[in-house]
Amino acid sequence: MAATALVYHPDYLHHETGSHPENKKRLEAIMGLLAERGYLERLQVVSPQPATVEQVCLVHRKDYVERMAAFARRGGGMWDMDTVVGPASYEVALLAAGGAITAVDLVLEDRCRVAWALVRPPGHHAEPGQAMGFCLFNNIAVAASHARQIWGLERILIVDWDVHHGNGTQAAFWNDPAVLYCSFHQMPLFPGTGRIEESGGSGAMGYTINVPLPPGTGDAGYVYAVEKVLLPMAEKFKPQLVLVSAGQDGHFADPLASQRLTTAGYRLLAAAVGRIAAAWSRGRVVLALEGGYNLRTMPYAVAGIIAELAGIDDPDLADPEPPPGDNLSPAVRAQVDRAWEHHRQFWE
Ligand SMILES: [Zn+2]
Repeated sequence: MAATALVYHPDYLHHETGSHPENKKRLEAIMGLLAERGYLERLQVVSPQPATVEQVCLVHRKDYVERMAAFARRGGGMWDMDTVVGPASYEVALLAAGGAITAVDLVLEDRCRVAWALVRPPGHHAEPGQAMGFCLFNNIAVAASHARQIWGLERILIVDWDVHHGNGTQAAFWNDPAVLYCSFHQMPLFPGTGRIEESGGSGAMGYTINVPLPPGTGDAGYVYAVEKVLLPMAEKFKPQLVLVSAGQDGHFADPLASQRLTTAGYRLLAAAVGRIAAAWSRGRVVLALEGGYNLRTMPYAVAGIIAELAGIDDPDLADPEPPPGDNLSPAVRAQVDRAWEHHRQFWE
């Protein structure tokens, strides 16, 4: 049995968003590249079960879930300025949350070590009572709550490397010290939250870790941030399970942001997560797809992460466009150091 699972369902293409940047071509492009490079036969491809209303209500308010169901049933439309809902989107969003739950079950049942829920719509902007930012239900938060409440885990780390701050995930666990939420995101950028000083509610001070990074941060800056902040915090927290909100919109060719990560950089982030998991969670990692909007380049970043975590030897894998130059700028270093100085007070 392959040590790495890919949780996928063709119904994820039925969340119809037209020409919106978050559209079904994203998953088609990823699956196309994984097939072309022979990855699919190296992975366990698993079909998810949809989440039940009860399961999404581990995070979301029942009245919001019902409003979303009714909105889709009436044919959908624009939920807000950014977020499209089609007639099938409610069911597909349940299947996306179910994909993340299925991925958690796979690793906790020891059926694989790493599982990637290749889902859409994405999730990390969805708040307990509100869809936003292309996200209907918060897949990673539902998965974490499932691991917490059904499996009884006591320490779950969520690493969010999507270029946008995961305001929804932060809100879901603001007062919950069982979940350490650590986000690396571009600032300024949508949704505007994720300042260093946002560190958790009174019952969980220090369990929300925000590392906002200036535009133009590349591989060296992200690696510095991960090594300076995430690795020592993970060592103190000792997670039993590592979840990743895996958005690849920090890539240098992404149209929605201006970071400069490369496929090689994403591999380094994945390797760091793999090291944390090897040390504390018996190697168990669950990823859920978030953003990433350049159809040509984003699948390479996804493949790079999979290659790294699944140990697939693919030496020719590289960005299809030449990456920009990269170094650790003084501004990035100063910002990361400031984040570390703020967060360490809660842990020492
Ligand atoms: Zn994003």
